[in-house]
Amino acid sequence: MHNYLTPNFTFAPILPDHAQGSRVWDDNGQEYIDLAGGIAVNALGHCHPVLIQALTAQAHKLWHISNIYTTQPAQDLAKRLVDNTFAEQVFFCNSGAEANEAAFKLARKYARDHFAGTEKHEIIACVNGFHGRTLFTVSVGGQPKYSNDFAPLPTGIKHIPFNDSSAIVAAVNDKTCAVVIEPIQGESGVLPATEEFLQAAREACDRHQALLIFDEVQTGMGRTGKLFAHQYYDVQPDIVSSAKALGCGIPIGAMLTTAQIGNSFTPGSHGSTFGGNPLACAVGCAAFDIINTPETMQNVLQQGKKLQAGLQELAESTGVFSQVRGQGLLLGCAMSEAYSGKAAQLMQLALQHGLLVLVAGNNVLRLAPSLLLSDADLQAGLQRLKAAITAFIHI
Ligand code: PLP
Repeated sequence: MHNYLTPNFTFAPILPDHAQGSRVWDDNGQEYIDLAGGIAVNALGHCHPVLIQALTAQAHKLWHISNIYTTQPAQDLAKRLVDNTFAEQVFFCNSGAEANEAAFKLARKYARDHFAGTEKHEIIACVNGFHGRTLFTVSVGGQPKYSNDFAPLPTGIKHIPFNDSSAIVAAVNDKTCAVVIEPIQGESGVLPATEEFLQAAREACDRHQALLIFDEVQTGMGRTGKLFAHQYYDVQPDIVSSAKALGCGIPIGAMLTTAQIGNSFTPGSHGSTFGGNPLACAVGCAAFDIINTPETMQNVLQQGKKLQAGLQELAESTGVFSQVRGQGLLLGCAMSEAYSGKAAQLMQLALQHGLLVLVAGNNVLRLAPSLLLSDADLQAGLQRLKAAITAFIHI
């Protein structure tokens, strides 16, 4: 097939054609079990009938009207987010990067509004963090390989080692306007933050009147067994970013915050043509009402445990993984010493064995399946992974 797209992605050698639940078929009719979930997006699997119904019903009513108006779906989704979190206000956009961009801009504007004349503009982020691909978010992200080629970069950003409580205490000062942390570093290897680290960040922010931002683009919307991963901890953020599973495949992002902070986004200070789009928000509402139920959260915890146990068994029987980690249905398998750096090779073999999985960096195989994952798909997925590992070991 001729590829008309810019070459910034290395596409897999199949052409996905249609999908249902946790199964995907390519244009040759070959079937795959999807334990990748569109990189933690397809939280309710593929083509969930309730989402199709919400999308088609809204498609017959109103597609787009612009931010000169608000709409009922946007208000309804914002209300759901506010009613179920610390937040009092929501800004809608189209992606995780845009949600973080809004968060960082708001933190700078809030500091300007409340600490005029000071140099309070610094953002503290974590080494190996990932916050998106706009110039600001890629600069805040702690992976220079993604930003170096685009210099000069925005300034006023410092990076500290993830989970290093003394480093965060030392880095935050009166110049800090915000600290941003992923509760589980997703892209760089499915590494959970410790409660001690999150608490140290909160205390340092409080001492210096800085805002604490949790990037929950990957960990949010039920992925870990709670609506947002930070809800496992006794640490309240000032801003949370969400995207990915918020629309279950329809592009939408959201920045959640308090009224005190959100009020710094005065009319005209920030915006988005498509943010709050009625189609995306209608799907978001329907998705929210399925995700935010005891049954779905129970399934995440139960299937997460089973999947983790199955992966652990594979780790022990094959010696391919040195550690299986993560929370709920966001799991990472670190490659053992003998197979160091070969996660992508295993992912390719999994594809050949009818299984979609992900990598996180070059040393971790990552799984982020549907939150509704069934026993049958889970067990079949593990079997196919076992077959792929057997082929991998014998290369
Ligand atoms: N933040 C985190 C934690 C992510 O994992 C991602 C995407 O992988 C993003 C931000 C960027 O989201 P998007 O690709 O929707 O811009």
